[in-house]
Amino acid sequence: MDIRSNEPYWLIKNAFESSYPSLQKSITTDVLVIGGGITGALITYQLLKEGREVVLVDRRDVCNGSSAASTAMLQYEIDVPLYKLIEQRGEETAISSYKNCEKAIYDLENIVEEIDSNCHFEIRKSVYFASDKDGEKMLEKEFRTRQKFGFAVEWLNRNQLHDLGLDARVAIQSDSGGNFDPYKFTYDLLALCAKKGATIFDRTEIRKTRQKGDKMIAVTPDKLKIQANHIIHCTGYESVKTIAKKIVNLKSTYALASEAFEELPYPFRNHIFWDTSSPYFYFRGTADNRVIAGGGDEKFKNAIKRDALLNKKWDFLTKHFKRYFHGIDFTPDYIWAGTFGETEDGLPYLGRPNPEINEHYVLGFGGNGITYSVMAMDAILDSLNHRDHIFLTDYGFDR
Ligand SMILES: Cc1cc2nc3c(=O)[nH]c(=O)nc-3n(C[C@H](O)[C@H](O)[C@H](O)COP(=O)(O)OP(=O)(O)OC[C@H]3O[C@@H](n4cnc5c(N)ncnc54)[C@H](O)[C@@H]3O)c2cc1C
Repeated sequence: MDIRSNEPYWLIKNAFESSYPSLQKSITTDVLVIGGGITGALITYQLLKEGREVVLVDRRDVCNGSSAASTAMLQYEIDVPLYKLIEQRGEETAISSYKNCEKAIYDLENIVEEIDSNCHFEIRKSVYFASDKDGEKMLEKEFRTRQKFGFAVEWLNRNQLHDLGLDARVAIQSDSGGNFDPYKFTYDLLALCAKKGATIFDRTEIRKTRQKGDKMIAVTPDKLKIQANHIIHCTGYESVKTIAKKIVNLKSTYALASEAFEELPYPFRNHIFWDTSSPYFYFRGTADNRVIAGGGDEKFKNAIKRDALLNKKWDFLTKHFKRYFHGIDFTPDYIWAGTFGETEDGLPYLGRPNPEINEHYVLGFGGNGITYSVMAMDAILDSLNHRDHIFLTDYGFDR
């Protein structure tokens, strides 16, 4: 599966920071992490803290899957609004999911500080806005629900949004949001993991896995073997190839970065934005004074069809930016596309699809993919030790 097109802005900005060797002989380890994106990096970091021996492999260069394409907005707000999630999954799971996503933003901020990553992590206010009557009605209901359950939210009317530079009817503003450079962060974290003892192999594909006694064996196309007590798949959207159950609807999504402004336009200095339309549009600033606009999702994942639409999406996203943010001279510079997927309830999948074997998955799908990966750090050891954890229940494969 080709999970992203060639020009994610982060790749061009950071170029290749470093590279790792590929696997040349069969080896044995305690834990094998498959996937060197942000999820694999966070999980490896956590396991090293717990004193585990970790080997991480990636079939590409590390951080060249979705994590390079991500627009990396951090929101505690899940793709499914809170009031709807309560209907779908009940009050307890819905509220704890929102609360834990919020905590994950600050946990990530702490990790960035801990590892001293120059990934421009910034806390930002999140503005969830509506530009039509239906969206407004939906937001009113969502606002009441969030207030009822103690989320710090503010209602913004048209005038207040106008002062912010946004042309929309109403919005919910939350203090807890953020953005950062996901590529730089993942590279920094993997480099630190390697320093702390993780063994990393890039350009090393795992073709299949099997159980042998109480061990797991992962096999490469060259028939090299990695024997491990546990295998953790942090394989993002490509995990659909190894999971029998249909857990996610895959589609294509687009992102556009503007040319750099002399200084970041006012709306983006302290805020990130997304709207109530379906599929939704979203907007954020970058540390080098660009604005990223995302959205324009298509319901297919075919990479050729997806990339054939890049020119069209260039105009489409530019037009939508200009519709919402008047008076900003947005000149598009880079466009890219990626595979994206949402689960039925907007929540991730964590743990063992087959409780009989030591093969675990960490799959943070959807617009909160990154916050879910941070949350999974908390549950991964319990998954390895076959212990209960609320996330392994709420986000388990048998839900
Ligand atoms: C355009 C776009 C915008 C997004 N915006 C946001 C956002 O604003 N906020 C947010 O939270 N999330 C966002 N996401 C989602 C977010 O990017 C993902 O949730 C996150 O990057 C997933 O990280 P990952 O490490 O799980 O997957 P990936 O980064 O895809 O890493 C998985 C790795 O596994 C490797 N792999 C797969 N199969 C094998 C195999 N068999 N053997 C060896 N290696 C293998 C791949 O090569 C890949 O490097 C966005 C995604 C896209 C595409």
